[in-house]
Amino acid sequence: MRILVVEDDKDLNRQLVEALTEAGYVVDTAYDGEEGHFLGDTEPYDAVILDIGLPEMDGISVLEAWRREKRKMPVLILTARDRWSDKVSGIDAGADDYVTKPFHVEEVLARIRALIRRSVGIASSEIEIGPIRLDTKLSRVSVDGKNIKLTALEFRLLSYIMHHQGKVVSRTELVEHLYDQDFDRDSNTIEVFVGRLRKKLATDLIETVRGLGYRIQSADNAD
Ligand code: CA
Repeated sequence: MRILVVEDDKDLNRQLVEALTEAGYVVDTAYDGEEGHFLGDTEPYDAVILDIGLPEMDGISVLEAWRREKRKMPVLILTARDRWSDKVSGIDAGADDYVTKPFHVEEVLARIRALIRRSVGIASSEIEIGPIRLDTKLSRVSVDGKNIKLTALEFRLLSYIMHHQGKVVSRTELVEHLYDQDFDRDSNTIEVFVGRLRKKLATDLIETVRGLGYRIQSADNAD
């Protein structure tokens, strides 16, 4: 899962990036509204954290522009404590949720998890498919109740396809959602990672759909 953080406060930006990275996301950052708008308009994100008070272009205008341009990713806005009107204009502009500053980073993480889940129609923070259980809260994976140690990239890969269960996910889509914008992307490596993941999980639930990509059965069909 790939997240964009648009926040001009450098310390806060870093704090969010660190927490999100530790939670298993790959993160791109922007420090002003114009840069943030550009990234959100051109790169595919699974969720965006958007500050309202930004230089160059304010957060509300950024959000309005994205929604005009039919960008549908879930957006969590960060608002100042006394600015209730920001919440109203933010939600009217197309925000999916908000957090008021100052906040605990755990709250932001929980809201991001919920936004991503909702955007793909999953209700629970633990996703179970057959013997595989993915705990999005603890970023942990188990098979038949046994914890499986995954690298950050393997975790992101599994999390992405489990969130999109039942659908064919192409290699290009995976590359776009597993790496940040600066990474030298090569979709051939995805095959290698899928191979490793299958081996570690010791199940054949991740199928290759020839010429199209990969698919994990949806929970309803895997039992
Ligand atoms: Ca700000």
